[in-house]
Amino acid sequence: MNSEKSLVCSAIERESTSLRTVSLDIWNHPELCYNEHHAHKVLTDFLEAKGFCVEKHFVIPTAFKATAASKDATEDTPIIGVMCEYDALPGIGHACGHNLIAILGLAVACAIKEAFDSGVLKGKMIVLGCPAEEGGGGKIDLIEAGAYDDMDIAMMAHPSQFNLPKPVYVAMNYVTITFEGKAAHASSFPWDGVNALDAAVLCYQNISCMRQQFKPTWRVHGIFTKAGEKPNIIPEKAELLYYIRAPSTQELKELTKKMIGCFEGSATASGCKVNYAFASKSYDSLMSNERLVSLYVANGEALGIEFENDPTRLSKQGGSTDMGNVSRVLPSIHPKYSLHTQVSAHTSEFRDIAYTEQSHDLTLLHAKALAMAAVDVYQNPGLVAQMKSDFQQQLRTES
Ligand SMILES: [Zn+2]
Ligand SMILES: [Zn+2]
Repeated sequence: MNSEKSLVCSAIERESTSLRTVSLDIWNHPELCYNEHHAHKVLTDFLEAKGFCVEKHFVIPTAFKATAASKDATEDTPIIGVMCEYDALPGIGHACGHNLIAILGLAVACAIKEAFDSGVLKGKMIVLGCPAEEGGGGKIDLIEAGAYDDMDIAMMAHPSQFNLPKPVYVAMNYVTITFEGKAAHASSFPWDGVNALDAAVLCYQNISCMRQQFKPTWRVHGIFTKAGEKPNIIPEKAELLYYIRAPSTQELKELTKKMIGCFEGSATASGCKVNYAFASKSYDSLMSNERLVSLYVANGEALGIEFENDPTRLSKQGGSTDMGNVSRVLPSIHPKYSLHTQVSAHTSEFRDIAYTEQSHDLTLLHAKALAMAAVDVYQNPGLVAQMKSDFQQQLRTES
């Protein structure tokens, strides 16, 4: 390990206690997408205290941008972005471990800043505070506002069960389907009514029947969000909310077409009107930059991290992330790292694991691997051009 890498690793170790305080504070104050006011304050206060130039409420009220640069940074020195996430899930708090993602970002940034300040690295680091990953698509707003325009590459990492340097994250959109019928007394004059709940039930079943023709990699999952007011009123309105996912944007379009057939078929059968609204912000699949992945893996292995090599786990389909959209704007990585558990995210068990000392230590271990990969890039600025060229090539083949 070269002396610059030793420096960033010891900087992370020195910050461990203060980072743990931040992590537990965020964990103890779970906030839903676009409402992460407490986390915004805790994270920006931390970065300000460390001497970063912080833009609070950057583009979005709960987003931020913090910058640090070496004195001798020029237009040609690399600009690396590290993403923090900090939103929680309704009902189960930090069950996706975003409190850990937040401090992983801080750890990388503080370590690199220390190397800038000691004059051993040249370049710039941007910490982007990204709200609303859990369905809100905060990074999509940030992309549209140009927040990634001045970054060369972007990195972050997400806690999980396994160490997967380039996990499979699929494209996703969501759709609200509303059926409108006609209310009537359910006992006296049911024949005067048009039952919107029946339309919604048919829609749910149409989609379930259609599953046989779905590719194994497609995912469709929905809930009833409105299903009537009282049993003695024929329901006039019913509503479903579905997430739909596929490995690529193209396949997502195919799947969407089949879904629309299901919506309209159930409206025809029930005599209801149907409206469906797809979210304006859909998540792209993740396109990991191989060169950046290799740096992260090589450095991780030097730290003793064992990366997954079981082919089933390597190709295992995960969820979706708005980092997928970022990965189509600039060279990016979003590895998953193991918290040494078999429990999957989005469960109360995983929430409790995101609080433990062991998870904290594992988070900092992967922060070191990312920080060391960043050191490689700052020390070999030519890598940025190579990563960008790979990125363009990959974009042409994968789109
Ligand atoms: Zn999640
Ligand atoms: Zn997550």
